[in-house]
Amino acid sequence: MTLTHLGTGSRGNATLLETEHAKVLIDQGFSGSQLEKRLGRLNIHPTEIDYIFISHHHGDHGGGAAVVQKRWNMKVQANHRTAEELDLLPELTYNFESLDMIHVSQDLVILPVPVPHSGADNVAFIASHNGERAAVITDLGSWTDELVMHVRGCEHIAIEANYDHERLMNGPYPYSLKDRISGRGGHLSNEQTGRFLAQVCTPTTKSISLTHLSEKNNQPYLAESTVLYHIDEIFTGEISISLQDGPEHSHYIGQTPQVEVSEILHSTKQ
Ligand SMILES: [Zn+2]
Ligand SMILES: [Zn+2]
Repeated sequence: MTLTHLGTGSRGNATLLETEHAKVLIDQGFSGSQLEKRLGRLNIHPTEIDYIFISHHHGDHGGGAAVVQKRWNMKVQANHRTAEELDLLPELTYNFESLDMIHVSQDLVILPVPVPHSGADNVAFIASHNGERAAVITDLGSWTDELVMHVRGCEHIAIEANYDHERLMNGPYPYSLKDRISGRGGHLSNEQTGRFLAQVCTPTTKSISLTHLSEKNNQPYLAESTVLYHIDEIFTGEISISLQDGPEHSHYIGQTPQVEVSEILHSTKQ
């Protein structure tokens, strides 16, 4: 299974999960043409995607879902509230409940786990492939014991590290917005992400990607160093940062890499 972020951040999120038998997107917060372009750099056409799983209805995660249903008949999986808020086409929409095991193909199962995020029924997704697991978690102000239980020991963890607490507090946002971002239903700070990872990383955790960094209130070096401070003693794997413009960083879970994404990108430019 490979996981490639096509881009993450407040201007759009989409992550590609690929196994031998399935191609799935997690979130579609881009325009149709942006999605086509970003997938095109991996030599994939939108019609090859089996399902798009939407975490919640905020525009940067689900804003491009209905558009691609209309343009390419893409099939979308979402919970009831998310589907309703996004006006998804009923004939191309599959509703899941939290903790339903969704069998996408013989080698890919997706499990949605609820996470706290204001004004939305947000979920994290755990993808299982031949006994190995990857977690994709974004837009949460806090976490539950249930989430810790499901993420613990995943081979790969993609999680937001949204803001540096000091930058947010000293930055230009009005007080009410600072309060909302840092609240229990907002986003995780670098510090909180570090503390969460300290609870879920085990020796089986091989790689971590930090996503959805605020362009105003964070910096990649701050996110990485803060998180590493918390997991230094337990985690020896690879850590990477996903920014707004992908695709970047393919993570190979449960198999040896055949070609790096940078090589694919390089070869398609020639
Ligand atoms: Zn959100
Ligand atoms: Zn978001």
